[in-house]
Parts: sequence; C-alpha cells; structure tokens
Amino acid sequence: MFDEVMRVAHQRGFFFKSAESYPNSPAGFWDYGPLGVSMKNKFIELWRRELVKRDGMIEIDGSQILPKAVFVASGHLESFSDPIVRCRKCGSFFRPDKLLEEKTKTQIPEKLSNKEYDDMLEKYDIRCENCGEKLRGTTRFNMMFRVGIGAAEEEAYLRPETCQTIFVDFPLLFKTQRVKLPVGIAQVGKSFRNEIAPRQGLLRLREITQAEIEVFFNPKRTEGGKFELFIGSKLPLYKEKEVVIGFSEARDMGLVSNKLVWYYLKMIFDFYVKAGIPEKDIRFRVLSDEDRAFYSREAFDLEVKLSIGWTELVACNYRGDYDLTRHSSVSGTDFSVDDQGEKLIPHVFELSMGVDRSIYAIIEKSMREEKGRKYLAVKPYLAPYHVGVFPLVNKDGIDLKALELSSLLSNCLDTFYDDSGSIGRRYARADEVGVPYCVTVDYDTFKDETVTIRDRDTRVQQRVKIEELSRKLEEMTRYPDIASLSMQNK
Ligand SMILES: [Zn+2]
Repeated sequence: MFDEVMRVAHQRGFFFKSAESYPNSPAGFWDYGPLGVSMKNKFIELWRRELVKRDGMIEIDGSQILPKAVFVASGHLESFSDPIVRCRKCGSFFRPDKLLEEKTKTQIPEKLSNKEYDDMLEKYDIRCENCGEKLRGTTRFNMMFRVGIGAAEEEAYLRPETCQTIFVDFPLLFKTQRVKLPVGIAQVGKSFRNEIAPRQGLLRLREITQAEIEVFFNPKRTEGGKFELFIGSKLPLYKEKEVVIGFSEARDMGLVSNKLVWYYLKMIFDFYVKAGIPEKDIRFRVLSDEDRAFYSREAFDLEVKLSIGWTELVACNYRGDYDLTRHSSVSGTDFSVDDQGEKLIPHVFELSMGVDRSIYAIIEKSMREEKGRKYLAVKPYLAPYHVGVFPLVNKDGIDLKALELSSLLSNCLDTFYDDSGSIGRRYARADEVGVPYCVTVDYDTFKDETVTIRDRDTRVQQRVKIEELSRKLEEMTRYPDIASLSMQNK
C-alpha cells in the first residue's frame, strides 16, 4: 500500500523527492506538485475551520529563523537531540533506536542512555547496513539546523517546531488582541529537523509543515462553558489496551486529567473524521512517564492505523507553565497575565500536527480498488480538483461549450478541462486522483441546456440544467458545516 501511494503521488504530482534530477540529493526533502498543493491547502483550511475558527482562536505566521537565545530558553539547544552511532569502518551514521526497533520488532524508548543503547546493540549483534561492521559507541546529535545571520554570521537556528514563536509572541498578542484566558493561538508553517536517517516518504522529513495550536489557560479553570460540550462523548484511548470511554471513566482511570484536555482531544478527533479517516482507525495513545518529553505533564499521540502500522499524526501535550516561565526568565520580559483579577503565568495545552503525514494518511486511507477500477475516495472538499469538465467530442462546438463551462465553474471551484482520449480514460484519470465529479458536455446540451454529472464513487450519472450546475456542485463540494458536529455531541 505504501508503495502504491508513493507511485500515484509521484506519477500524478501530489508529492515527490526534492531535486530529483540530481542523483545524490539528500533524503528527507520533498516537493508538493500541483495536486498536492491543492489538497494541502484545502486540508489546512479544514483545520482552520474545525479548530481555529470553531474555537475562536487567533492565528499568526512567524519567522522561520530565530535567535539562539530562544532555543536556550526552550531547551532545544541542550536536549533536542537523537541518539546516533557511527560505523567505525565505513563512517555511515545510524539511529541505534531505529535499528533496534527493526531487529526486535518492538518499540525502543528514545530516552535511554548512550550506554544502554550500546548494551542493546551488543546484545542483538546490530551491524552496519553497509559494511557489516559491529556498531558501538552511541553519542548524541542535535537536530537543529544552524544558520549564521549577516556578515558576522551571528548564531541562529531554523525553528525545529512552530510553537516557540507562539510562546515568545504571547505577551504582545495577549495585550494587543484583547483576548482573555483561555485562548488558543495557532500557526501553520515550516519547521526543520536535521534527522539522521530519514525514510518513509512524507513520514519522516527534514523540512516539515506543521500546524500547531497552543491553548493558554488558567489551570484552576478547566471546567464550565464550552469545556462541558463533549463530556457525553466517547473517545478511543490506548494504554496497553484500547478502551472507548467517556470523560468521567477516563478521569477515574487516570488517563485524562481535566475537561479542557478532553474538549481539545475531541475536537482534533472530529477534525480527522471530517478529513476522511474512519473512526475505528483513530486512537489516542496515552504516553507513559518514560515516553513523555521532560516538560510534559500529560501527553497523547493521535495515531492512525496505516499499512505501515499505527502512526502518530498529532502530539497532544499538556506543557504546564514550562515554556512561558523559561522565556520569561531568559528574556527578562514579564510573561504573566491577568485572569479575572488573578496574576499568573498561564498553562499550555498543545495540539501539534504533522501536515505532511496527515496528507499521506488521507491518501492511503482513501485508496479503493473495485474490479480493477482504482479511485481515490477523498472527501470532495479535500479533493485536488472539485470537478473535471469534458467535451464528448472535440468538434461541432461541443469543445467550445465545454471550455466556456469550465471557465465559468472555475470562478468558485477548482476545475480542470480534459479533452484527450476516450471519456472512459478521462474518468479513470480523474478517479485515480480523487476528482469527485466530472461534467460532460454532449450533443443533447444544445437541445435542452443540460450536462451530465458523474459521481466518482457510485459512477451514477445525472442530467443537470446548466443554470443550476454551479450552485449544485458548490453544495456537493463545500466544507461541512462547522456547527453540525459540535451540536451533535456524540
Ligand atoms: Zn559500515
């Protein structure tokens, strides 16, 4: 399945390896082609609607290069590192934890000491993949990309996550945007991680698109108001085994600490359902003390079941007041705010989403094959094109009519025009990339001003008046109503 996704992505222009023309280009950099860009934009817009707008958050777009001091405060300079082992014979670098995972088929913790990794490398007789030499001597490698600013090359870094800008900008935003706690601040953009051995397409990258949300709140006020909305809902939580349970039960079992956390878990869950991932293939892995980052008090990975196994798409972290306290003390700026007469440094709950992985997951989950017919059953509002317009033949004015219709529809819909090959071939090409509706102009169009709309999933065709066409297609491809699911409260 993974190979099939990568094949379609490459051949049809969703995404492909960057600088492919150069044979030795480094791994972990990917380009989005036209179809991928369109889908990614729609996915981000869905995220805006379902999380940012639905919850009344604010959004920023911060700089990708940040001064060293920011990463001193955030702790990245000291601890944003991966274990690494270098072959003493051929000089190749490897991640000892990844090699051990492949060998033992179990999860290896990321936080073992160098000595512990070495002992395990010895125990399982792990060798260099290139030359067969025994691998020993684990060290640490900081994954931030260092850059030099100006002629003096002042030390700075490409951000390894988008959230630090949100923390650093928080005091200004709180003051100028006239917001109150609790408030969510969102950002979507590129982050950079110098991964040691990136593999698996969009699943492990050196340049990634993240969509992050940081919710700032008073830890004494995690109930009431909107935080009661989803208390009757159930969510799939996984710790040793999976349970689908409601809030009270989850709190009694020590899996979720408060209603605010539950509220945001439910929102991100709803978002992925609307993005087209089946509910049964989504779960929240409750992270144990050993698996959590040191600043994290409570953490969940939203995972989706893919052909390569359960894969993390969103890290949900209760970060406490760690970030704001650190930035406050290193920068010398007061980060405390007023909440109903109480002065405090807010706590933070974070939803950190990998956009590229999510796009991969949606494509994989949408692939269908029925009796030799392949199609991509993506939600119409995430499809790279909403509609394809085809002339039945390229003569008798039919092609001109179809061209006219295509430009008319492109006012409000992502439309493409295709006049080459048989209609069957054109349908098949559109199906493979998930175009939900195809419109065909034929001889009858001149008699009664109608065209055919053909549905990708059912292949059912209907005749529609041209004057109703654009309204109808808009209805069939628009984003789901923001209110509908929140009121459903399931
Ligand atoms: Zn070697």
